[in-house]
Amino acid sequence: MSETIALDPRDRGGAGTRLLDVHGLVKHFGGKGGVLTKKNDVVRAVDGVDFFIAKNETIGIVGESGCGKSTTARLVMQIIQPDAGEILFDGEEVGSPALDVRSFRRQAQMVFQDSYASLNPRLTVEDTVAFGPRVHGASAKAAMTSAHDLLHRVGLEPRRFAGRYPHEISGGQRQRVNIARALSLQPRLLILDEAVSALDKSVEAQVLNLLLDLKRDFGLTYMFITHDLHVVRFMSDRIMVMYLGKVAEVGPSDRIFDTPGHPYTAALLASMPSMDPARRTEEAPLSGDPPNPINPPSGCRFHPRCKMVAAVCSVVEPALFNAGGDHFVACHLANPASGHPGA
Ligand code: SF4
Repeated sequence: MSETIALDPRDRGGAGTRLLDVHGLVKHFGGKGGVLTKKNDVVRAVDGVDFFIAKNETIGIVGESGCGKSTTARLVMQIIQPDAGEILFDGEEVGSPALDVRSFRRQAQMVFQDSYASLNPRLTVEDTVAFGPRVHGASAKAAMTSAHDLLHRVGLEPRRFAGRYPHEISGGQRQRVNIARALSLQPRLLILDEAVSALDKSVEAQVLNLLLDLKRDFGLTYMFITHDLHVVRFMSDRIMVMYLGKVAEVGPSDRIFDTPGHPYTAALLASMPSMDPARRTEEAPLSGDPPNPINPPSGCRFHPRCKMVAAVCSVVEPALFNAGGDHFVACHLANPASGHPGA
């Protein structure tokens, strides 16, 4: 990538510093008199979420729709403002004098699911990718050279694609343009929100492999949001499972898949389609829809759907408990001192 814009320090905090560190993130929607005054009208979209992403790591975020994963991404990106919480990027608080939101946004970019709606229909592919660097002061020539370089890197030969408009290319090609545009400001963090979910399977595989190549070549860090557990396993170093605005479980991918600690994670995994007839389940592992986030269940939010529920579960909210190494589980079963008879 050519040097077209002034770069922020690439590794301000050093190798040992987490790239993203999120503490106590809260976002409630609704309630005409304010989130605290009309409690019953409040949607608790994100309700006290803590997590981190190490440098050059991919964290996968999974959960049913409405679990808060996309809201978490938008809060991190400052597209919507949190009600509470702290977001640190490479050791600096986002929005502080040391790291204003504009500088942060240059270093953190997002790719959305809808490739067409994300693009300006009146801009050609090359103008789309050159737009960001132009806004940040690059010359037209430098921005265009960088755009062509990036188009080449994402597999769109500039001679064929640079002058086309979004409606003249396929969904997979549009998503490659979105990825090139996201890379145009030389970010360090890419947030991919269901970025491959709308693509058919063969195109999806190509784009996933492209993302792995780009991550390696540009030293990127990914926050990868998807409802597809096969995809998340393929992409992620660690996985965070969300349920009704909370973190249910977080840990290394293999650990989550091989020995899930939370009954919700186990049910999600059991609901994955299997090609092996011997592994097909007769009984639905997860019954019912997630409860309404306006008035979530007491104690553990999963208790009305949990097959392992005990008396303590509807009374006491489980905290994230260290189940060994980097594996944390918000379930009383994981904590021998919780009072759950199965713990
Ligand atoms: Fe199930 Fe209780 Fe664990 Fe919640 S805390 S997941 S209800 S066993």
